[in-house]
Amino acid sequence: MPKTVKAAVMVAPGKIELQELPYPDHLEPGAVIVKMEMSGICGTDKHAFRGELTLYGGTEAEQPMVFPSVHGHENSGVVVEMNGRGRDIEYSGQDLKVGDRVTHCPNVICGRCWYCRSIHGYPYCAEHQGIGMTYYADRFPYIVGGWAEYMYLPPKAWVYKVPDYLPVEYTCLTELFVVTALLDRAKELAAYGGRGFHFGDTVVVQGAGAVGMMMIAKARLLGAGKIIALDKSEVKLNLAKEFGADMGINVNDLSDEELVEIIRDETKGRGADVVVETVGRPEVVKVGLEM
Ligand SMILES: [Zn+2]
Ligand SMILES: [Zn+2]
Repeated sequence: MPKTVKAAVMVAPGKIELQELPYPDHLEPGAVIVKMEMSGICGTDKHAFRGELTLYGGTEAEQPMVFPSVHGHENSGVVVEMNGRGRDIEYSGQDLKVGDRVTHCPNVICGRCWYCRSIHGYPYCAEHQGIGMTYYADRFPYIVGGWAEYMYLPPKAWVYKVPDYLPVEYTCLTELFVVTALLDRAKELAAYGGRGFHFGDTVVVQGAGAVGMMMIAKARLLGAGKIIALDKSEVKLNLAKEFGADMGINVNDLSDEELVEIIRDETKGRGADVVVETVGRPEVVKVGLEM
């Protein structure tokens, strides 16, 4: 194994440096080291770069992202070392081996606190740690993030063996696709009369960025009728159609009232059945409720 690892280290807001970090001299029980293949840039990384550091504000898991840190939590890599039996480390008990491609959940939870025992999963764990967010790059194990040649996955990280047929780009996007679980929740709500996301429903996706694209693909998978993408970029609106949108509306020069009217026209006057907001601005939520 190498002695050092090249890594993009976020050393302060607005500042990223290429550094040589130590390759960890040992692995804790249950830890894995992977050789990185691909790593995404999440909106969370951009927040950190702008100095907006609070994760999961208002919950027991609230904590700041740290500096210096190796970011990157949407990852695909190949196992080069692990300390423990593969079937104890892999999330679903598969026989993980050196050479296997893996991805992982960014959130490392304790499994012991009240939140872990009572409410499954993040962001509630009181001891939560975020791979590529809350691990320091200047102390062992140094490389807990994907923007590096190698990445250390700490004990208790949820590590998933990836099927051989899955291309590396898909593996890398798996974490992002998890965000679309809110459409699954909306589907489940449909079990209660009149609410939620029913088969054939019109779905409006506000914002055709990376998360919006995932929502469009998921809405299509879950049996949406008409899917309408909203954005200010023609390039993104065209891409949205490749991901499964039936139409794109450029909201650049539209007032809220005009936009609501267009959506009503497209839905026989009823309005959208499901609206997914992926922009992150309060005013977008307001018009979303109206359409
Ligand atoms: Zn993310
Ligand atoms: Zn916990």
